[in-house]
Amino acid sequence: MVSFALSTPVLEAQPLEFFNMAEFTDREPPYEVKMDSAFLLKLDELRRLCDFSFHINSGYRSPKHSVEKYKAKPGTHNKGIAVDIAVANDYQMNLILRHALALGFTGIGIYPRHIHIDTRETKRVIWVGNFYTSNQARDSPNGKTKNAN
Ligand SMILES: [Zn+2]
Repeated sequence: MVSFALSTPVLEAQPLEFFNMAEFTDREPPYEVKMDSAFLLKLDELRRLCDFSFHINSGYRSPKHSVEKYKAKPGTHNKGIAVDIAVANDYQMNLILRHALALGFTGIGIYPRHIHIDTRETKRVIWVGNFYTSNQARDSPNGKTKNAN
């Protein structure tokens, strides 16, 4: 088991089995990580069910992040309730998608090389992005960003 320092009672009581917090740290300054505990536990369960390692392309994003700053209001990455998981092939995509649906993830974005999952507090939203989608439109199926169409 990987250990990490995160002072939430939830994760102290039930540490993550498969991830350490560095994997969710914002890739851009100020390199913060403010992930939601319930989301991480659900992600840990998803990882356990899929039974292959996850590479997290993107976890927490600050409001200054190059994607977040174009959004009209904070996105799910900024709320700490989203990750983008790299997907190597259809087998992995299929498993992640199936188990994410079963576990009740409410935002699922399917892209050629990754899948976005989140626990937004709305009706379930599933979208398909493509390789050429601009950064600004990524993760925004509802037209809330400047470039969304
Ligand atoms: Zn995402």
